[in-house]
Amino acid sequence: MSRQTEEIPLMSPAPGTSRSLIVHRYGAPGTGPKAYIHAALHADEWPSVLTVQKLIPMLDEASERGEILGEIVVLPYANPTGLAQRMGGHVTGRYDYDGSGNFNRNWPDLSQAAAEKLGGSLPEDKTEAVRTVRAALREAAAELPRRTRNQEWRAILLGLSIDADFVLDLHCDSEATLHTYTNVRHKDMVEVLGAELGSPVNLLEVEAGGGAFDEANAKPWWTIGDYLEGGADLPAACFGVTVELRGQADVLEEYAAADAEALYRFLQRQKVIAGDPGPVPTLSNPVSMLDAVDLVRVPRSGIVGYHRDVGDRVAKGEIVATLYDPAAVDPVGARLDLFAGTDGIMFSRFSDKLVEPGDNIAKIAGTESLSYRQAGALLED
Ligand SMILES: [Zn+2]
Repeated sequence: MSRQTEEIPLMSPAPGTSRSLIVHRYGAPGTGPKAYIHAALHADEWPSVLTVQKLIPMLDEASERGEILGEIVVLPYANPTGLAQRMGGHVTGRYDYDGSGNFNRNWPDLSQAAAEKLGGSLPEDKTEAVRTVRAALREAAAELPRRTRNQEWRAILLGLSIDADFVLDLHCDSEATLHTYTNVRHKDMVEVLGAELGSPVNLLEVEAGGGAFDEANAKPWWTIGDYLEGGADLPAACFGVTVELRGQADVLEEYAAADAEALYRFLQRQKVIAGDPGPVPTLSNPVSMLDAVDLVRVPRSGIVGYHRDVGDRVAKGEIVATLYDPAAVDPVGARLDLFAGTDGIMFSRFSDKLVEPGDNIAKIAGTESLSYRQAGALLED
């Protein structure tokens, strides 16, 4: 069966302006595992847009060969509102101008609403229980409020993703190596995905907090038990993962092609697509807990000069950057060295070198939990 493509109109933000989402569908619901993939939920992060453009023809060919074993839903861009946020030649794309904040925070938790649809109990058969919960989650997503543009957009995306086995939310960081974020319950799965992508850093959270899109899809599987008898025995049936496809400037043909091939092999490995992906590559580094990620912050404004590159291994106490104060009367005396707070891989830097107090200018993935990192507040805005 060939690809089905639908254009979903969104509420018009202003007279004379229309917006829509494009949704490509492969396979058929209920025939096998479902994967949901979208690009650029943060609309200023474009590597994934190119990656998905590479992936679509691969999926088209697989579909023509009859190799889609389950269902695949692909959105080549997730956030047309953000894509249109061009100001002075720069697309901001991360926060909605309507005041609702970061596009990837505060996604609704559907577990209670889904539990209420199930009348307080679940079928004893595990497969049937998962199927029943998926249907309830779909119903709950369909009933999300759609009074505002932002609400409507969230309801549509969650409606497309909430019943998936795999939700791949493709992002990028400022300047970065490949890295991923997922829940600790999905350690085994992210080790496979990270190895496939060649991702040197893969971060696990117990409770990230913040309501990111991946969490909104994955978390109901372990929180629905708070509202439903037998719910605590459900498997974590949705692998929700945020994949950071390097830095914002890394929109490159060779990266996009390699990443699309890695995602394709991952889908083969999960039996969403037929075919032999070959042996799982070796993961280059052990996964890290998110509370072991050191955030190097600046205490005041200035210009940052980096001494280390993304992907470098650094040692605790090592100088990774220096903050310069152009307003200082004594410019040399005002220099402030910034240190690594842990041994690990410096996987992210700040592309804007003009910083203000509190900015996080580097992330270092270590192996030991850091006392200042708190479960439930592990994501920056
Ligand atoms: Zn992002």
